[in-house]
Amino acid sequence: MDIDSLDNPYILLTPGPLSTSKTVRQAMLRDWCTWDDDYNLGVVQVIRQKLVELATASQHQAEYTSVLMQGSGTFSVESVIGTVVPESGKLLVLANGAYGQRLAKIAKVLRLDHVVHDSSELHPPDLDKLQNELASDPKISHVVVVHGETTTGMLNPIGEVGQIAKSHGKTFIVDAMSTFGGVPLDVQELGIDFIISSANKCIQGVPGFGFVIAKRSELEKTAGQARSLSLDLFDQWKTMEDSHGKWRYTSPTHTVRAFSQALTELEQEGGVAVRHQRYSQNQQTLVTGMRSLGFECLLPDKWHSPIITSFLSPNAAAYNFRQFYDGLKRKGFVIYPGKVTDRDTFRIGSIGEVYPEDVQRLIQVIGEVKFW
Ligand SMILES: *Cc1c(COP(=O)(O)O)cnc(C)c1O
Repeated sequence: MDIDSLDNPYILLTPGPLSTSKTVRQAMLRDWCTWDDDYNLGVVQVIRQKLVELATASQHQAEYTSVLMQGSGTFSVESVIGTVVPESGKLLVLANGAYGQRLAKIAKVLRLDHVVHDSSELHPPDLDKLQNELASDPKISHVVVVHGETTTGMLNPIGEVGQIAKSHGKTFIVDAMSTFGGVPLDVQELGIDFIISSANKCIQGVPGFGFVIAKRSELEKTAGQARSLSLDLFDQWKTMEDSHGKWRYTSPTHTVRAFSQALTELEQEGGVAVRHQRYSQNQQTLVTGMRSLGFECLLPDKWHSPIITSFLSPNAAAYNFRQFYDGLKRKGFVIYPGKVTDRDTFRIGSIGEVYPEDVQRLIQVIGEVKFW
């Protein structure tokens, strides 16, 4: 197989699926048997251990474990919420964007007792309100927040939220879908009991499954609590633990192989800290370049993640997102529509197999081509 035939016609400046390396895509070119040791011991168990190592470097590493779950990232989020909050419990959801709202929607659909603190898309969570609510409602057992709110690009203060949740003895859940592997964090230091991400974001794999890194003692309490069969996080974990990496139902073998290669490439790049530097450089190159062309960011810099940036749409009467999008695509770049509700925006991602030189080429194209 000629590896050049794996070239992409354009790069994805989107928050996942994102541009992957050719070698990650090439890893999908053979088939695997789901009950063979080559796959389970050689690939799945190695991935599970590496995920724990990425989540914490502390000497308490053995207190953490990981579970892989079929489906897109939301399936993994739903498996956590639907499994870990007991019948007698109550979930507090901090929301400031579409992904926070999705957490609330999962709780609603599963008919969980829950309360939502919505600080609006343009503001971080209200920590005083959180503190007061946890002090006044003893029924609340779990707190959940999104780390990188992909709707806007905001990086939420999970350290502070975790401290408050832990000081009240609550179980702390983080949707770190768009940041895990691209922003340094340590679940032990942050007091995170369950953290969720998926294959096709900062680890730079392809879509098909999500994963959860959990505090073992917290996960062990959740047997028999799941509100779904296929999304039973405990049962999935138990099967993987007891059967050396076996998935309960069909495993996305090709995606898992690609993910294994992506983890190796993350190590080769120098780990999360080095990848974070590259993403930050991509994002700074983007913002500096876009500002020089007259564009404005939706959020103040101090709240920004290096993952994705929302820009206000130009005021020009002739501007039209679709035309801009199509024009950029013809030049080799795919961008993302806006997602905030009350401002007209578009988004550009800075994660994936993307380098500052690519971002510079993008800025040059936006500066030179008359899109409207
Ligand atoms: C991508 C993403 C998800 C999951 O989305 P899926 O489409 O189900 O993969 C959840 N939360 C955040 C913050 C995300 O960026």
